[in-house]
Amino acid sequence: MLYQNKAINNVKEFKYISDLGNFNSIPKPYKEISHSDFWQYYDTWAYSYTEFRQTYDINEGKNGMVPIEIFYYDTCAYARDKNHGVGVGRYWRIGCDHKWVIEAAGECWSRSKCELCGAETESDSSDCHSYS
Ligand SMILES: [Zn+2]
Repeated sequence: MLYQNKAINNVKEFKYISDLGNFNSIPKPYKEISHSDFWQYYDTWAYSYTEFRQTYDINEGKNGMVPIEIFYYDTCAYARDKNHGVGVGRYWRIGCDHKWVIEAAGECWSRSKCELCGAETESDSSDCHSYS
C-alpha cells in the first residue's frame, strides 16, 4: 500500500489533480457521478495506475471510512467504493473539468492542452489537414 502511494506521488503527469491528499482522503477536486458514467469510462479506456484508499472525507458525516479504489488515467481519475454487495455503489470523477485547446501536432495528429490545469494529451484525430 505504501509503495503504491509513493509511486503515485512521484508521477508528475497528474496535473489535473490539485491535491493528491493521502491514504485517508480522496484526491481533489472530485465530484460524485452515476453508476453508468463510471462504467462507460472504465470500460472504454485503460488506466495507468490503481490505488486503494480508506477515506474519511466522503462519508457524509457518518462515522467510519469509505474504502475506495482509484483508477488514474492520463487526463482524469475515477473512483468507486469497495462496499460491493452492500447497497448501491458510489462513484466519483477526480480531476479538473478541463477546458481543452486543441492544435495540430502533425498530419492526422492533434495535441490538446487544458487552459485550467495544464494537462496535455495527444491523439490521432483522424481528420487530416483540418487544422491547417
Ligand atoms: Zn484541466
